[in-house]
Amino acid sequence: MSVRRPILTANWKMHKTAAEALAFVERLLPLVQDADSVEVVIAPPFTALDRVAQSLAGSAVQLAAQNANPEERGAFTGEVSAEMLAELGCRYAIVGHSERRSLYGETDELVARKAAALLARGIRPIVCVGENLEQREGGRTFDVLDGQLEGSLARAEGRADDLVIAYEPVWAIGTGRAATPELAQEVHGFIRERLVVQFGAAGSAMRIQYGGSVKPENVYALMAQSDIDGALVGGASLEAEVFGRIVHFERQEEAR
Ligand code: PEP
Repeated sequence: MSVRRPILTANWKMHKTAAEALAFVERLLPLVQDADSVEVVIAPPFTALDRVAQSLAGSAVQLAAQNANPEERGAFTGEVSAEMLAELGCRYAIVGHSERRSLYGETDELVARKAAALLARGIRPIVCVGENLEQREGGRTFDVLDGQLEGSLARAEGRADDLVIAYEPVWAIGTGRAATPELAQEVHGFIRERLVVQFGAAGSAMRIQYGGSVKPENVYALMAQSDIDGALVGGASLEAEVFGRIVHFERQEEAR
């Protein structure tokens, strides 16, 4: 089990209207109000951020955005800046998700600029990295991750305390085929080593989430690994009761 405080993040992607998001929060809050040993984070679509922020007020659940533009302001139609997200109460923002990398051509350089813009506004980036199936089968997993980490964190020097890393093997996202705990730990251990090289001793305290088909049935075994410090959850975060069970992964295991 990790010595770092676990962080469980719900990534809703392009799901839930603001009204649906509010209904979720109403159901989730009583389920997680006693989850003191973990940090719970919800990343709704932009359109629900404001109302979700209001409904989370007074609770320990934190708000995250799913993306941000790296520029301060200007002629960037359809984009949202870090300052705008900070104003709404976002404490975290996901950057470099594999869907953004593959569908919208986001590069490590762009991810690094987004992370820097967020850090400048007091928002903690959740920086996603992960290999795809072809890269894994070609034996290139560690090279790919090395490049993604170096590139995506290039502008975050000295900010280890404000960063969260999410290891998300692309072949495990939304497929129902999660990495085994052993495989995930092997990669998390590698990422930890790279973080220590990049950030020094502070790299040991950085939290590394695992993402890819996490559900109530497999979360405990993943979280039992020494370098897995949380989960970034897509599909299984859409129902409050299911996500609530993930948040309470320890209690769930005790009840078995
Ligand atoms: C994700 O989108 O970050 C994710 C891990 O999705 P899922 O849990 O559905 O695999």
